[in-house]
Amino acid sequence: MLTRTAFGALLTASFLGGAALARCDGGAEPASATDIVQPPATPKAAAPTTGRPSPAPRRPSASASAEPTKPPEVPASGSGTFATARASGDAVGSGPLRRYRVQVEDSIGMSAEEAAAEIQAILAHKRSWAAHGRGSFQLVSTDADFVIKIATPATADRLCGAQGLDTGGELNCETLEGVVVNLRRWMLGSPKFDGTPAEYRHLIINHEIGHEIGIRTHLGCSGPGRLAPVMMQQIKGLNGCLSNAWPYDKDGTYVTGPAVG
Ligand SMILES: [Zn+2]
Repeated sequence: MLTRTAFGALLTASFLGGAALARCDGGAEPASATDIVQPPATPKAAAPTTGRPSPAPRRPSASASAEPTKPPEVPASGSGTFATARASGDAVGSGPLRRYRVQVEDSIGMSAEEAAAEIQAILAHKRSWAAHGRGSFQLVSTDADFVIKIATPATADRLCGAQGLDTGGELNCETLEGVVVNLRRWMLGSPKFDGTPAEYRHLIINHEIGHEIGIRTHLGCSGPGRLAPVMMQQIKGLNGCLSNAWPYDKDGTYVTGPAVG
C-alpha cells in the first residue's frame, strides 16, 4: 500500500461543495438504472439541520417521478462515534490489494452495513478503477489499509480540521486514515452535480479512491462536450465538459484531461 506518511503533504479537502481540492461533480451523461447503484436505504430523519439551506436533490432513482419530493433531513451534527460495518467481502478487481472498512457515525440512523454494501457495488462497477486493473479492493471489518467514514458535517469538520483542513460543513476530505465523507454530500449530492445523489456517490468514492490509489493530480476538461474526468474538480466548473461520475467511459477508455495544479 501507499505509505501514509506520503500522504501527509498531500491531504486534500475534497469539495463536494467547497474549497480546496474539490470533489468532482458530474453526471450530465444520462445515467441508466444499470449504471447506478441504488442505495439500500436512506437515513431516518434526525435532528433538524442548522446549516445553510440545502438544494433540492433529485430522487435516488432512475425512474422519474412527478411527485414533489422533500430533501431528506441531514443532521448537522452527531455523536462523534462510529459504527464499523460488520461485513466483509471478496476482493474485486486486479492490481494491488487495498482493504478498507466502512464506518458510519452513530446516531444518524444509517446502517453501516448498508453503506458498505453500496460502496462495494460502486467499487465493483464496470466503469470504476477495479474493473480496469487499477487496484483491487476488499471490504473488511478489521485490519484495513484505510477507512471510509461517513460523518455529519460537524464531525467531518472536526476530523478534517484535525488535519488542518477547513471543510466548512460542506466538504469531504482525505485524512491520514482514509476518507471522510460529509453526510450532507452523501445524502444530497452537490448543488453543482447534474445527477442523482446515488450517482454522486459514485463520484465521491471514485474520486477519493483515485487519491487512495496514488493519483495526486487533479485533471481538467479536455474539450467542450467531452466527459469530465473523475479526477477533475467538477464542482468548480465543468469548462464545457459533461459531468461524469466514473473513471472510464462506456467503451472502457480512461477519461482524462490536462493536469491542473
Ligand atoms: Zn481530489
